[in-house]
Parts: sequence; structure tokens; C-alpha cells
Amino acid sequence: MAGEFDLIARYFDWPARGAGVALNVGDDAALLSLKAQHQLAVSVDTLVAGVHFPLDTPPADIAHKALAVNISDMAAMGAEPRWFTLALTLENDNPQWLAAFSTGLKEAATQYAVDLVGGDTTRGAQTITIQVMGEIEPEKALKRSSAQVGDVIFVTNTLGDGAAGLAVHHAMQEADWQASPGLSEAQAYCLSRLNRPTARVPESRVIRRFAHAAIDVSDGLLQDLSHILKASAVGATLNTDHLPLSEAVMSLYPKEQCLEFALTGGDDYELLFTVAREQCTAFQAEMISHGLRCQAIGAINEQSEKITDQQGRLLSASGFQHF
Ligand code: ADP
Ligand code: MG
Repeated sequence: MAGEFDLIARYFDWPARGAGVALNVGDDAALLSLKAQHQLAVSVDTLVAGVHFPLDTPPADIAHKALAVNISDMAAMGAEPRWFTLALTLENDNPQWLAAFSTGLKEAATQYAVDLVGGDTTRGAQTITIQVMGEIEPEKALKRSSAQVGDVIFVTNTLGDGAAGLAVHHAMQEADWQASPGLSEAQAYCLSRLNRPTARVPESRVIRRFAHAAIDVSDGLLQDLSHILKASAVGATLNTDHLPLSEAVMSLYPKEQCLEFALTGGDDYELLFTVAREQCTAFQAEMISHGLRCQAIGAINEQSEKITDQQGRLLSASGFQHF
């Protein structure tokens, strides 16, 4: 790409804020210093235009989402997010797009207190890959394989907002948008949850002191819960009356549709985790004292890999799958 080095210098090179960056963007590799007695947690996620976000998503939102979905993996692991790299593939070097993307990325990096320490820039179909790195004390990771029979299943905040946001986006495309009065407050809320999901880092800092197992809900509650069940060789009952739904989603869609969004919709990036029953009171008190929201939605049982509802009906895990 012509002017590649100028482009990097202009849009993706800014001073590191946090500790640990011994060498930043500009050399063949970055140099990072881990805190003593910590492990490096590493994760990577790619966002493909038209697959992971609608093609007309504003570039600042794309940047926010690309970073948030990666930080969310650190939160789900119980790791403290620290650094990230960015592999950017673009069809052209449109300065408006780059400026808006860069501003959004800088904002999101500030919000999550992480530093951009390197990357790669290439020409091709628009794809944004972020690799995130975090720190974690040995033996403290919230693995998918550690759920235990009797654990209570919790989820943070609300479920189904991302799926509702996608439904709103589809409706916008079908409607004669020029003639329509614009988005309602509830529609705008759902769309903003789709475009700018929040990685639950403060929640993770409390959850990691109490939980056995955790995952983030990226592909739908049932599918992501089934990953925990499979890895831990356990089953689960869910009380679908207890699924936390936002006012916005409930005001826009009938109950059945809300439940469908919450159970199988993707793109929520809430944390789903299990806590020993005897720890629940202390855990919930701690969450409340930090002003953080979570809801008990079920329990782990010995029925290997099965998910049933409060009436014993089998719930099938069919969230979003690429293949
Ligand atoms: P190399 O040829 O060694 O791979 P590059 O020309 O790809 O180096 O990149 C030069 C420097 O700019 C490296 O430090 C790299 O990490 C950084 N870099 C490249 N693209 C990006 C980007 N999109 N965001 C942040 N840093 C980048
Ligand atoms: Mg390179």
C-alpha cells in the first residue's frame, strides 16, 4: 500500500499510556514487560465487513466493536487486559474512514486502558483483526472446564440486545428510511448495543474472585453455555422466566421474540459464569456494592451437556455458526 508507513504513523502510532510497553509501534516487534509472577493471556478475533458488522456501520463503531469483542475474551478469562495489536486489511486508504476509525480506536483503547503496540496493514477485502494480550495470576483463569454440579449460573446485565439491534438494522434497510421518522429511543439503544458492545471488565474483576467457569456470550446463550457444559462434562437447567431483558427490547418485541433473542441471538458480550451455591450471597453483595448487575438464571447439574428449562423441556443450542 502506497504511503503505508505514513498511514501507520498518522493513524496508528500514539504514545503508550500504561506500564509495560518497553518498545512501541515502529520496530519489527513490540517489547512488553509482564508483571512478576503473571501469565500472558492471548486471544485474537477477526471482524469481517458484512459478516460481523453491517457494511454501513460507522468506522468509529467498527473500531469500538473490534476492540470490545477482544477485551471481552480477556474479561471472560478473568485476565486484566493490557495490550493489543491490529491487523488491518482495507480496500483503499480513504482518509475520512481512517481518521474516524483511528479516533474510535483511540477512544476505545482509553476506555479499556489498553495500549496499541503494533500491527500489520494490507490491501484487500475489509477485515479487522485484533489480538489482545492480558495478564493473569497463575491458577486464577476462569476456564470453561471448571463448572461444578450444584453451581448457580449467572449472566451480567441483559441478553438479546445485540440480536434485537440486528433486527432493527434489517428493518431500517427494508423500510423507506428517507420517509420514516427515524429511530425510536428503544431502537437506537438496541442498535448501539449491536455496534458498540461493552466488554464487562469491572464485572470480571469481581467475578474472577468467585466464579468456577466463565465464557462471554458472543454466539447466543445456549450455544455459549453448551461450551461450558461440554468442557466441564455437566448439564444445566435454565429458568427462562429469569433471563434478564432490557426495557428497550421488551418494549419493541413480543415476549416469545425477546426470549428467542436472549437464548439464541449473538453479539451480546455479556459474561456467563458459574458460582458455587454457598458463595452466591457474598458474590451478589460484592457485585451490588460495585454497582454491577448480574442475574441468576439456572444451575449446573449432572445431566451431561443437556440444557433443560424450568419445566424440564430440552433447549437446543443453535446460536450463530459460520460453518
Ligand atoms: P514489518 O515489515 O516488520 O512487518 P510493517 O511495515 O508491517 O513491519 O509495520 C511497521 C511497524 O508498524 C511495526 O512496528 C508494526 O507493528 C506497526 N504497524 C503496522 N500496521 C499497524 C497498524 N495497523 N496498527 C498499529 N501498528 C501497525
Ligand atoms: Mg508487517
